[in-house]
Amino acid sequence: MKFVDEFRRSELSQGLIRSISRISTRKARLMEFCGGHTVAIMKHGLRQLLPPTVEMLSGPGCPVCVTDNADLDKAIALAGLPGMILTTFGDMLKVPGSRSSLQEVRAGGADVRLVYSTMDALQMARENPSRPVVFLGIGFETTAPTVAASVLQARQEGLRNYHILSLHKVCPPAIKALLESGEVKLQGLICPGHVSTITGSRAWEFVARDYGIPCVVSGFEPLDILQCVHMLVEQIEHSESRVEIAYRRGVREEGNLKALDIMASTFEVAPARWRGMGKVPDSGLRLKKEYERFDAEAVFDFDPGPTLEPEGCICGEVLRAVKTPRECPLFSTVCTPATPVGPCMVSAEGSCSAYYLYGASGE
Ligand code: SF4
Repeated sequence: MKFVDEFRRSELSQGLIRSISRISTRKARLMEFCGGHTVAIMKHGLRQLLPPTVEMLSGPGCPVCVTDNADLDKAIALAGLPGMILTTFGDMLKVPGSRSSLQEVRAGGADVRLVYSTMDALQMARENPSRPVVFLGIGFETTAPTVAASVLQARQEGLRNYHILSLHKVCPPAIKALLESGEVKLQGLICPGHVSTITGSRAWEFVARDYGIPCVVSGFEPLDILQCVHMLVEQIEHSESRVEIAYRRGVREEGNLKALDIMASTFEVAPARWRGMGKVPDSGLRLKKEYERFDAEAVFDFDPGPTLEPEGCICGEVLRAVKTPRECPLFSTVCTPATPVGPCMVSAEGSCSAYYLYGASGE
């Protein structure tokens, strides 16, 4: 298979669905960790094609959504410093912080610029040597290596005005925290495809070993996801729990060793705050001491102010899979993609946005 269309062939999808329906006799409550999977599942209406024994839950794997308001407020405060150029990926612009958003402070005169890669941010630092340039480092293991590479590049070039605000998160500790909380009982985990491209499928072995939960890494096309569900249901039916890969074209057991090396040379793990989950040990990445001069939090003096949560928003519960977006009283009335109250409605990978856009066909 070489092309995307081949992963959307309806006769193959129907064959997989028939097979899942035939073999599935036990309750199979599966969580897709990744927001990209949530969107694909909703967009292609996969949930209602599966037998009633299979229940799908959406997890916290949207990096924009899990960024805590206190951390977002730091970015907004940094953007207001004199001379500052704050660079960010587009999804973060509209996310409401405690009192404002990056978009609003930009409208008020702050120099907040949209970039498509860290290389764009580095270029801005080269072109504006007298001004500080901060890159807002949001994302999981998927994006952290490119941010680490930008820091190494800045050091090599002797750029003194390039910094990052590292709000990066690593996923396995968040899964562990979810499972330890006991709030949600799972029979299977659809492991994130892009994250596993970097971490490798071995990152999930503790879930199968310590919690007895089958794990399968999935790609993002309908056939990828259905194959993943099939593999999970087979394990559940045989009372097995191991890690498998249904995304061989992207993921290896050992991951991307070069990317892991770059990350490990630049970052160290640290506690991080996840929206709805609080502080999770070892789930964040901060720059190592030797790279402190690139760390915006260490270099700049700024006050993000007290943290306020959006009133009425239940993003935290949605991210922990204890409620669905439809259970939020603001869903699709007060809160829409045009007027988002919380980040799960802003992000293209957010559950609330996916329910809003595809809810009629996706549930
Ligand atoms: Fe928050 Fe809006 Fe989602 Fe409700 S619908 S949980 S207010 S983002």
